[in-house]
Amino acid sequence: MNYNIIKKNILLEGKTKIIYKTNNSFKIIIHHKDDLTALNGLKKSCLLDKGVLTNEISTLIFKFLNYSGIKTHFIKKINNREQLCHKVNIIPLEFVIRNIVTGSLSKRLGIKEKKKIPNGIIELFYKDDKLGDPLINESHAIFLEIISHEELIYIFSIVKNINNLLKLYFFNKGIILVDFKIEFGRNKNNEILLSDEISPDTCRLWDRNTMKKLDKDLFRMEFPKKEKIFDSYMEILKRLNK
Ligand code: UDP
Repeated sequence: MNYNIIKKNILLEGKTKIIYKTNNSFKIIIHHKDDLTALNGLKKSCLLDKGVLTNEISTLIFKFLNYSGIKTHFIKKINNREQLCHKVNIIPLEFVIRNIVTGSLSKRLGIKEKKKIPNGIIELFYKDDKLGDPLINESHAIFLEIISHEELIYIFSIVKNINNLLKLYFFNKGIILVDFKIEFGRNKNNEILLSDEISPDTCRLWDRNTMKKLDKDLFRMEFPKKEKIFDSYMEILKRLNK
């Protein structure tokens, strides 16, 4: 494959990433920023070199998923903050997969924290900042005309596959994959590809022995300690590199 890619102007800028156009209309460059956001952007901060860590961690995870046969947008890491990816039109849905009860699920269903969910629960959120990304179901998504019934069935089967692969991948590194969020997009041929990122910014990751949090939940806390967040992301990277 020819990788003579030239970075062009910004296509769009999100809370934690910048997407650049390239000289190839089917490829983009994703740049990881140091910004940390939570509570739908209400809580914001900056953590020096966090973008380097999320770029590296997401690269390792997408490489593993590509290798495992999952179709993703990821092509290659090009520098410490950037990846070359296939351009997709993001489907405005967040797929949240939960393996252990915590956070809002515990409150919503009245179930004690830390209960295992043997086959995982998949939730759908409609990506719309103005609406605050509401929790929706399959019928809502189809009614909104953002996805077809067939595509949803296809994505659900991939999501289960990804969850099984990642649960084991992290477990072998001494980490419990508590829950995580993924997004999909359609490429030029209308194929559905896993897109966006997978990192401690988008997953709840607990140490397998101590159950210590190693992810962005440390930032969601009332008095977040930046060094602790950075050290935890570093710890994740160290273990994934083992
Ligand atoms: N998540 C994410 N981005 C979002 C929303 C959720 O990456 O915009 C991830 C989050 O890191 C966690 C999971 O999805 O791993 C569930 O997060 P949620 O905000 O739904 O938390 P909860 O409802 O459990 O408090």
